[in-house]
Formats: sequence, structure tokens, C-alpha cells
Amino acid sequence: MIIWGTGAGGADLGQQSVQECPVCEKDRPFNLLLRYRYAHLYYLRWVTKRQYFLACEICQRGAELNVPETEKALGKDPVPFMTRNGWMFLLGAIVVAVLTFAALTGGR
Ligand SMILES: [Zn+2]
Repeated sequence: MIIWGTGAGGADLGQQSVQECPVCEKDRPFNLLLRYRYAHLYYLRWVTKRQYFLACEICQRGAELNVPETEKALGKDPVPFMTRNGWMFLLGAIVVAVLTFAALTGGR
């Protein structure tokens, strides 16, 4: 049986600026928000879609941002490490299991 599916996550990356919100019609703090979707097969995960928004903290309205430019400005990837690189650990676990098996059976 193959276990697979999709999931979604998000993060509030903190306040970026205070500016007038066109919806609230007042000065509001604007936060950088990340939303992402991922697919998984067993415990292997990879990110299928990511979106950044600069959104009003009060009404959550805002504009979608350009992904490469936003990530360049951030200087780091805010998606959790295991979601981005979970497949590497599975690969590593398989390699360790094979090597352990070889070491245990190789002495006979
Ligand atoms: Zn607002």
C-alpha cells in the first residue's frame, strides 16, 4: 500500500512595516505571511507551492509577493527543514539500514 497525500502549512514572518490599509482605512501593521502546500509519499515531503503575502494584521488583506524576490530579501527559507528535506532523511535511513545489514551478515 502506498501512503501519500498533501498538506499545507504557513508561517507569520513578522511585521514588516506600518502603512495605510486600504480596507481598514487606517495605519496598520503589515506582516509578511507565508503559505505553502506540500505533497508527501510515506514520510517524504516536498513543497509543491509557496506564496508570500504582505497582509494587514487586522483584516488579513494584502498583496501577494513575488516569491524569488521575497526569499532573496529573507536570506533564508522559512519552510520547516523536515518538510523541505524529509526525503533526504529517508534516503539516509535506507543507506544506514543497508550498511548495518551488510555489516551484520558480512562476517559469516
Ligand atoms: Zn486592514
